[in-house]
Amino acid sequence: MFDSWRASGREVAVIGLGRSGGAVAELLRRELLPVYATDRGTTPLLEATAARLRSLGACVDLGRHDLDRIRRAVGVVVSPGVPPDSPALMAAREAGVDVRAEVDLGLEALEGVPYVAITGTNGKTTTTALVAHLFVALGRRGVAVGNIGTALSQVALENFRPEWMAVELSSFQLHDARHVRPVVGILTNLAPDHLDRYASTEEYFADKRRLFQHDALEGIWVLNADDPASRSMAMGLVGRRLWTSVTRPADAWFDRAAGALCLGERSFLARSELGLLGDHNVMNALMAALAVHATGGQLEALAGGLRTFRALPHRMEPVGESDGVLWINDSKATNIASTVVALAAIDRPYVLLLGGRHKGEPYDRLLPLLQKRCRAVIAYGEAKPIVVADLGGKFRVVEAGSFDEVMAEARSLARPGEAILLSPACSSYDMFNNYEERGDAFRRAAAGI
Ligand code: ADP
Repeated sequence: MFDSWRASGREVAVIGLGRSGGAVAELLRRELLPVYATDRGTTPLLEATAARLRSLGACVDLGRHDLDRIRRAVGVVVSPGVPPDSPALMAAREAGVDVRAEVDLGLEALEGVPYVAITGTNGKTTTTALVAHLFVALGRRGVAVGNIGTALSQVALENFRPEWMAVELSSFQLHDARHVRPVVGILTNLAPDHLDRYASTEEYFADKRRLFQHDALEGIWVLNADDPASRSMAMGLVGRRLWTSVTRPADAWFDRAAGALCLGERSFLARSELGLLGDHNVMNALMAALAVHATGGQLEALAGGLRTFRALPHRMEPVGESDGVLWINDSKATNIASTVVALAAIDRPYVLLLGGRHKGEPYDRLLPLLQKRCRAVIAYGEAKPIVVADLGGKFRVVEAGSFDEVMAEARSLARPGEAILLSPACSSYDMFNNYEERGDAFRRAAAGI
């Protein structure tokens, strides 16, 4: 792609100049391609990126997109944060410009570095971190890249070449990627999500299916046997299919009766040795172990790696205990499916903090789980009236205003031996810049700050 774009003599437009957009623009300049880089924003951070790119010979527009210039480009590289209906992207697509995800160029630039690719609705980041952690436990120079944080283009720019990569891919990244050829691909699970950005669940699943775009005999796919949608998507794949399950024997599975994680017939880790809450995390660990095993990892070393892995921030993360109440930060749960798994994972009575910006799915799906151990739901944020309409009358719902009020209410409701669980099933954008800020506010409240 670099070569064919260069041969055209035309400009490449980079849309969105966050971390990955900035890195890919730099990569394109290093490959001596003419670059037009643009971002709608004008923050000081963007100004700094713009100055760096200009010094490398790129032409940069902040605060506006020159749509005519984008239409004339030989290719457009899009950063993961740019919405699909952004005018710049629409203009490029309408003009028939070759639109690529940043990861696609990163993967091309890093050709030759083997990788495990991870996608799915939930559990991507945890599984990606687990895979990278297992690489390191095996003594390989491994990195976690993509949606998880470090841009692939950034890795490509550095002199240090990893031996293995764990690459997290979102559906948006897959939409515009053509170079996805992992040694092993993991599909964690499939559930409706992003209904605010996709017209239908089918459209969303179609992007996920792009993980398998170069499916071939030598391919290896790690798949969730417990998820009917994954099973049906995997039908017809020609590569080797490896299955994981937390309910029955599979290539990697959880033997609940024995309390052990198993690969085929061999049990390799006691459940109690895995420092993560919930069956969903057992599933993530099984998928990561199975994938790395398929790349040649020995069972003993994999078990050692799993023993030392800790919960990632904002994902069923215990953040403190005061007056006998455990505070669990699951701020990353921004859809119903994630909150469902959190509620299934918790093994003591709890108060649930539910709310934020509504994403379109009804909340009454939570009812059967709430009835098991939840003592009260605190509804807050923009979603509050919808939570109240869906759950009120059928369950104890307490309404709160500001986040401070939510915290105060939670403190007064929870009793010793119980938990306060922030697993909001909504995005954070009504009150915070992102879910990390929301989780950090919760962490501070847990510490009494
Ligand atoms: P992603 O990167 O796909 O958003 P994360 O690993 O960041 O996934 O986890 C986000 C949330 O998704 C977690 O807090 C948890 O509630 C839920 N989750 C994690 N793993 C799974 C899984 N295997 N199945 C279902 N839900 C999961």
